[in-house]
Amino acid sequence: MNANTPVQFVITQREQDMLIGGQRVPAISGRRFETRNPATGELLANVARGGVEDVDRAVKVAREALGGPWSRMKPAERQAIMLRLADLIEENWDELAMLDTLDLGAPLSRTRLGKVRSGALLRYYAGQATLISGETLSNSAPGDVLSHTLKEPIGVVAAINPWNGPIGMSVWKSGPVLATGCTLVMKPAEQTPLSALRFAELCLDAGVPEGVINVVTGMGDAGAALSSHPDVDKIAFTGSTGVGQKIIEAAAPTMKRVTVELGGKSPNIVFADADLEKAVPAAANAVFANAGQICSAGTRLFVESSIHDEFMDHLVEHTRTIRVGDPLDPETQIGPVVSQAQMERILSFIDGAESEGASPLLGGTRKAGEGYDAGYFIEPTIFGDVTDGMTIAREEIFGPVLSAFSFDTTEEVIGRANATSFGLGSGVWTRDLATAHRVARGIKAGSVWVNCYQMLDPGVPFGGYKMSGFGRESGPHHIEEYLETKAVWINLD
Ligand code: NAP
Ligand code: MG
Repeated sequence: MNANTPVQFVITQREQDMLIGGQRVPAISGRRFETRNPATGELLANVARGGVEDVDRAVKVAREALGGPWSRMKPAERQAIMLRLADLIEENWDELAMLDTLDLGAPLSRTRLGKVRSGALLRYYAGQATLISGETLSNSAPGDVLSHTLKEPIGVVAAINPWNGPIGMSVWKSGPVLATGCTLVMKPAEQTPLSALRFAELCLDAGVPEGVINVVTGMGDAGAALSSHPDVDKIAFTGSTGVGQKIIEAAAPTMKRVTVELGGKSPNIVFADADLEKAVPAAANAVFANAGQICSAGTRLFVESSIHDEFMDHLVEHTRTIRVGDPLDPETQIGPVVSQAQMERILSFIDGAESEGASPLLGGTRKAGEGYDAGYFIEPTIFGDVTDGMTIAREEIFGPVLSAFSFDTTEEVIGRANATSFGLGSGVWTRDLATAHRVARGIKAGSVWVNCYQMLDPGVPFGGYKMSGFGRESGPHHIEEYLETKAVWINLD
């Protein structure tokens, strides 16, 4: 398969059904929704629109699977299946990458890179499967009493996913489920349902028993049905802060375990002593990669005042060289944003910034002309004269729009960087060790990247402070979120 492969060879079924209990099934209501290519507007597939009754069916199947052969498998057996899955995902990566490129509009140059990360994630979680253990704990109870803990799978997990990295998200949500022996009902975003369905088929091919990984495609109402379903034990949500709040409320009556990975407005701080040859392209990539549709995007750029103007000149010059265009062209670096609604939302933030007195140094418009008019392309946009109170300085835009500020002191910039309700990512560029450590300690965010940005690794936790959510994904902390701890007391007297 290459960039010229016609769509019909990748999406062989125009009618895409859900995957529940190992079977591809339509919605009980028979309803469907369309998924389209945001670069061209072309219809990709009519997808089953799961509703409350389909969620119910999938949760029942996931509950049954929890008590089936899956529950009797040894950790090493689950591990072997996961290692096979990692191999299968890599073998089929060209297809998975193409599905996301068509559905989301992310360029092939980006989706192809996900192969290494997804393979590594699955192998990391496969390793974790055999490391889950309780502890023997000392106690001071009278008599001779032994106490130890058992780690048990939390049960039926519902994953509710956003659209900005579909196949990576399917892998990230499934890894801890498979490692711990839980079962899963996953609802991909309505804009990007296709790769999750193919992923679930590959799980079956790898030997994951039927009913362990289920995919219900649909809209927000399917997500809402999962979050309030009495037989779901845990919700793993990634998405917007607003929907995250609704999910926490919906989960409260049945006391579900909840982890929420939400939005951000992440600061990226460049000190005058930084290596500017590295910091300039990294600052652009931090905000423009995936057309700005990354939760931890470095959307607030703070540049020390003595180098501010020079830095901004270089940044604009560099950003002009970024290739925006057809996601199927391997040279393209930035594709369209995911939908017309998203494009309009981003453009309205840009208009709002202009009416609040900011003016773009670069971009600020939809990209027009041949090859662009049918899609939702936005020029990478840089505002160089933003003040802290402006709407674009505070709200998550989730598009290729950068707000830049200047600062004078370390203490000042830490305060301004933290003056946000979010706390997901952050960047610091300096050659001074003390400055790097002070800022890393001072920033209230789940990740601080020093002289780099958006580093992720299966072994290192990722997640939010404040309104960017709670819970950590990746690393040993992630596994804990899928386990219950039981204390066992044995009176030996
Ligand atoms: P979203 O609107 O919150 O949607 C996320 C998922 O929730 C979708 O599957 C959506 O279904 C579903 N949903 C909608 N309403 C629901 C409800 N009432 N109850 C339960 N589920 C519901 O987010 P998005 O627009 O897809 O993604 C962009 C957002 O995600 C940004 O804010 C971004 O920062 C955040 N994000 C965070 C991370 C992270 O790790 N922190 C990673 C990626 C994205 P529909 O698709 O049908 O609406
Ligand atoms: Mg789509």
